[in-house]
Amino acid sequence: MSESTKSLTILHLYPRDMNIYGDWGNVLVLKRRAQWHGYKVKIIDYNPGDTFPRDVDIVVGGGGQDSGQDKIQADLHTIGPQLKALADNGTPMLVICGLYQLFGTFFQTHDGHIINGIGILDIETVAKSKRLIGNITIQSDTFGEIIGYENHSGQTFLHEGALPLGTVERGAGNNDQDNSEGACWKNIIGSYMHGSLLPKNPAIADWLIKQAATKKYGSFKPQTIDDRFADLAREHARKRPR
Ligand code: GLN
Repeated sequence: MSESTKSLTILHLYPRDMNIYGDWGNVLVLKRRAQWHGYKVKIIDYNPGDTFPRDVDIVVGGGGQDSGQDKIQADLHTIGPQLKALADNGTPMLVICGLYQLFGTFFQTHDGHIINGIGILDIETVAKSKRLIGNITIQSDTFGEIIGYENHSGQTFLHEGALPLGTVERGAGNNDQDNSEGACWKNIIGSYMHGSLLPKNPAIADWLIKQAATKKYGSFKPQTIDDRFADLAREHARKRPR
């Protein structure tokens, strides 16, 4: 099959309720870079009550206020088994902040109220009185330096089944105690990093595309992409105060 007839479908979870600090930008970057790598791209927006699509190659979800998390909770549980099956099967996923928390077992909000997660990631989250806010830089074995912005009350703790995405160099990350940021399991990446994340960290976007393409077509031949604007954005972000 020629590269131009190959296609990837991106499922965007809850764009209406879970999309803060421009997290939608992650979907745009995946779309554009996958096109540059020679794939046709289809984006499916999934909101509460929609029919869960059959063919999905990449899953992306963003952050949200506690109220947004409450709104989507029931629906997330109805599609939890489908998401779990995709996850088990090696489908790449990127979930940020609010959805990162709800891919774990639970998020206990400030007032003690529990929002149950779908337990795909072996993590749990409890809100603390001090919000963790500001620019953040971490080091990851797979992606090198990752640069973003965080703003969350929830503090996340990883259990045996999850590995951190990286180690915090500047900022807070998962919590104010262990210097870890994000969580990975199979081909899923969970992270607190907004920005949005992918425009400044194209290596993560290409990794997600590579997993999806390899799973679907057996191989991935990357094209050379001019990353000068991403490099400039990284350079500026690095200089900004916390
Ligand atoms: N409401 C959650 C918290 O404050 C998630 C916030 C977010 O997605 N930015 O921890």
